Amino acid sequence: MTHAGNAMGSNRPHEARLARLAEVAVKVGLGLKRGQELVITAPLETVPLARAITEAAYKTGASLVTTFYTDDAATLARFAHAPDEAFDTASGWLYAGMADAYRNGAARLAIAGDDPSLLAGQDPAKVARANRARSKAYVPALELIANFSTNWTIVSAATLPWARTVFPDEPDDVAVAKLWDAIFAASRVDGDDPVAAWEAHNSALRSRTESLNYHRFAALHFKGPGTDLTVGLAVDHEWCGGASTARNGIVCNANIPTEEVFTTPHKSRVDGFVTSTKPLSYQGTLIEGITVKFSEGRIVEANARTGADVLAKVLDTDEGARRLGEVALVPASSAISASGLLFYNTLYDENAASHIALGQAYSKCFRNGGEGMSEDDLAARGANRSLIHIDWMIGSAEVDVDGLTQEGRAVPVMRGGEWID
Ligand code: ZN
Ligand code: ZN
Repeated sequence: MTHAGNAMGSNRPHEARLARLAEVAVKVGLGLKRGQELVITAPLETVPLARAITEAAYKTGASLVTTFYTDDAATLARFAHAPDEAFDTASGWLYAGMADAYRNGAARLAIAGDDPSLLAGQDPAKVARANRARSKAYVPALELIANFSTNWTIVSAATLPWARTVFPDEPDDVAVAKLWDAIFAASRVDGDDPVAAWEAHNSALRSRTESLNYHRFAALHFKGPGTDLTVGLAVDHEWCGGASTARNGIVCNANIPTEEVFTTPHKSRVDGFVTSTKPLSYQGTLIEGITVKFSEGRIVEANARTGADVLAKVLDTDEGARRLGEVALVPASSAISASGLLFYNTLYDENAASHIALGQAYSKCFRNGGEGMSEDDLAARGANRSLIHIDWMIGSAEVDVDGLTQEGRAVPVMRGGEWID
């Protein structure tokens, strides 16, 4: 495979760009500290990036890097041959071990590059059972990630199945090269000083969150084609975005790339209807054309043009799966949106458009980072709880956003998908 097609990106050889992405992942994404352990999960096809990150981590002083690889072929073998009663099984021991590692100070890095349609042809009931079992087993580790007990980050790597999905008309090597170009550009590693580029980006995101936190809106109102949605915000909510300080005191960027500012909606104060503006790629299935109706925070009607059966099963995961845990604002002109590509990957597509997430809220998006607030305190302020957290896109150049003050006055926040300054 060649990576010669980087005309639009940079003249640097692929390996050099990979090393720069690895450096950004370790220094900006994780803020890895000397002596810290690191747990990596990665698809088998992303070994070159996993190795580059491992090297960068050791150069930064990591004490031990442990990588767990996932294999699409092994996953398909399970769906083809495992006994039906086995789909409620998950590797609880593995997630318990990861939780143990995070409690003992390990940082966490995930490489995303999965085949977006891997499970599209599989029995939705089996997919749902497997996902549910995995989500449940993952709780001890996920809680520590969701509340930023440790520093963590997600980066992406181009894989052939993902590249084929994004660039279906290109030969394989060109598709992979083009996807890498898009990843390097969105991850801000093509300039002279990627770490400095990230400092500037983080400070721009910080001025957005400071302005929204100054307003302390009671709700946001989204209006566009197929959308008229009021999203009440949680009491004592705080807007987050860009770099954040984990509870271990380490500053990290949880998503590489990231363009969003986000906060916690009130689980009982969401009303109206909303239509998705991009497909949602959920654990191997594409869910397109989602339309849902909310009443008092709860989804009371849900439909989708494709993947409706998977969406229905997702919503039945638990009570919290029908309520929101995140609302995020992203300008329609963001670097990722400007690429004009549909990535079929939430990490990318969620940074191309404003979005909402079903399920678990981030306790970090409260005053003082939710420090000192118990689960009951958070719930009393409107934070949702669920086994799932699934982002889907509701913003576009046709969607306007207003902030509603405590007195009910509308303040324009976005027009035609762009920030109002
Ligand atoms: Zn988000
Ligand atoms: Zn999210």
